[in-house]
Amino acid sequence: MASTRQETVVVDGLALAQDIRQDLAKAVERHVSTGRRAPCLAVVLVGDDPASASYIKGKRRACARIGMDSIERKLPATATEREVLDVVEELNASEGVDGILVQLPLPDGVRPNTIAEAIGPDKDIDGLTPINAGRLLLGEPGHRACTPLGIMKILEHHEIPIEGAHAVVIGRSAIVGKPISLLLQQANATVTMCHSRTKQLAAVCRNADILVAAVGVPRLVQPDWVKPGAAVIDVGVSIIDGEWVGDVDTEGVRGIARIVTPHRRGVGPMTITMLLCNTLDAYEAHFGA
Ligand code: NAP
Repeated sequence: MASTRQETVVVDGLALAQDIRQDLAKAVERHVSTGRRAPCLAVVLVGDDPASASYIKGKRRACARIGMDSIERKLPATATEREVLDVVEELNASEGVDGILVQLPLPDGVRPNTIAEAIGPDKDIDGLTPINAGRLLLGEPGHRACTPLGIMKILEHHEIPIEGAHAVVIGRSAIVGKPISLLLQQANATVTMCHSRTKQLAAVCRNADILVAAVGVPRLVQPDWVKPGAAVIDVGVSIIDGEWVGDVDTEGVRGIARIVTPHRRGVGPMTITMLLCNTLDAYEAHFGA
């Protein structure tokens, strides 16, 4: 009997991210060569969470590598919500800043939604303010959340048919699950959104041509949940005994899925790259392409 084992491509998100960053670097260079200032990302760090400090460092390094400027506003863990809002308002008004990112989590007493709502929509390169979330819902132009945008680029790069496909998204967060569901639906997929109360999750997933897991439950998606030939996108990141683990049993789905993103060098590098894309878009909306 002929083997039905599928040749599975393990997505190299880092290589794809690097290709996109090269194009971004060329665009930045082109702008700067005309005498304009470079695009600039402002990051706001409140408190001294080492993980947050490390994420900020990574984002600033990514900016520097493509010739983008970045500035950091650091506030102590004791900062009040008013103090954080003052910084956001100052950055909103700054002619020298194109994108604003407030690193989460924020200390107790500083409400993330209140801070997000204060970021000017044109500088909201995370795409998470109510205005940009609303624009996405309405299908209007606006900054899109970075992880979902990166997932769409991965699907596009691997020529995964989206129109008419059944996409199943596990997770309904504002940062990943909801926006990726909307982007897939706007690309004419038929989308099923799943969450912790979904019944017969495995059976629903088995029908997916595109399966996106954005949950945070290690290896939730097992090989027998995956339809042969499906595109499997693993967004989840959990750390177990110091090791990074995704939401998908990546090794197990090899030979079944058409593509699968690994939990390292998969979606993560694309997320930061989309932050750079959105910052350049914000700059070009102001200065022209
Ligand atoms: P979140 O806000 O915690 O949302 C998790 C979602 O998963 C919720 O909608 C929850 O359902 C659902 N869920 C939880 N347990 C479930 C289960 N057993 N079965 C089905 N659904 C379940 O998380 P998030 O911010 O979207 O992040 C999800 C994961 O992606 C995390 O591991 C995070 O670290 C990772 N992440 C990675 C990147 C990247 O760039 N690689 C970016 C963002 C997030 P309910 O709504 O019913 O509670």
